[in-house]
Amino acid sequence: MDSSIFCVLCGGPFELESHIYNIDTEREAFQWINSVHLLGSPEAISPYSDLVILGDDEDLQNTSNSDDVFLSMETSWTSMDGDLLRIGNSFVQVLSDHDTGEVMFPLHGSCIAIASRVIETRHTPSRTRSSLARLNRALQDQFRFRKYFAGGVGNDLFDLYAEYSNYGPRSLLAIDELGWWGDAHEKFLMDPINIPNLTSFLFSAVQATPRRCSRAALIGLPERWPQELERLPTEILDRITEFLPPKSIIALHRTSRTLARNVPLDERFWRNHILDGSLLPHIWDLTREQLEYPRPGDQQSGSCFDIQWGWKSIVKLLFKKEFPLCGGDSRLEGVPLGFWNRCRIWKIVEEACPAQAKIRPA
Ligand SMILES: [Zn+2]
Repeated sequence: MDSSIFCVLCGGPFELESHIYNIDTEREAFQWINSVHLLGSPEAISPYSDLVILGDDEDLQNTSNSDDVFLSMETSWTSMDGDLLRIGNSFVQVLSDHDTGEVMFPLHGSCIAIASRVIETRHTPSRTRSSLARLNRALQDQFRFRKYFAGGVGNDLFDLYAEYSNYGPRSLLAIDELGWWGDAHEKFLMDPINIPNLTSFLFSAVQATPRRCSRAALIGLPERWPQELERLPTEILDRITEFLPPKSIIALHRTSRTLARNVPLDERFWRNHILDGSLLPHIWDLTREQLEYPRPGDQQSGSCFDIQWGWKSIVKLLFKKEFPLCGGDSRLEGVPLGFWNRCRIWKIVEEACPAQAKIRPA
């Protein structure tokens, strides 16, 4: 592995050399590593750019569907390529700002997909700036900051060489020799997009969560007469909240005791917004049918769709996207390695592209 050429979002390589990685490199779960795209500013790939050697009669195709950012078609990289990434018959120098001041970043297609979701979740949509443009700008700014104001640390923009006492290495780049000889590196290479056992994991976590009684009975009586919105019949409030994001429903619930009673945050609320991906946007691909019907051998009466299951507890469990090495919640044992990797990449992007407003469970 050429340690200077890696995906700046996940710290992973773009090629799996079988003599280095103690894994079956042909396994389907590792193939996402080989899918590379270049992300950068359009001016950096102009025919006059020092970063580009264009093939005869060839223009680099921009697949971003946007004029404010360049995204190359899918390509690949091998250690023989060094810092020149081949696209068709052209070559682009990556991770170097040369004279242009702009950098071309090689990134995994899966990391770009996750980053786009993070940005769409945390930023209000803009007609003038696409998600990819936001990502590109964040990477360009961080590259310059690290190079000119933080003492120069190679291509590590987000402390990917760091290791935390209770969470372990932040990326593959921080793995020590013991980790390479063992299997500690495997989870960093697992496909973070296609996770076949994600729904089963969530199902098991829900089953292991103690049920709780209704919280509605614990809300005190209103201290004054209802005013304005509070005077609406609950049927109307139900209809209104159908169109609100969970963040707004939680805010409405917290407004007063009357609204706390009339806009309940019961298990149905937490369940529905987990399943539609709005409360835990990093879990967008649950197999809803698998959670709606009891499966043969399920010990609990009724289905997982039962509103008494502790769905709010599941939100709190998975919202942080953290998996401590020891002392963690027992429901996180057996977490799919692809999901672990998705959460890791998601958190790195969250740090790279700070939110405008955060959604937190009540
Ligand atoms: Zn990556």
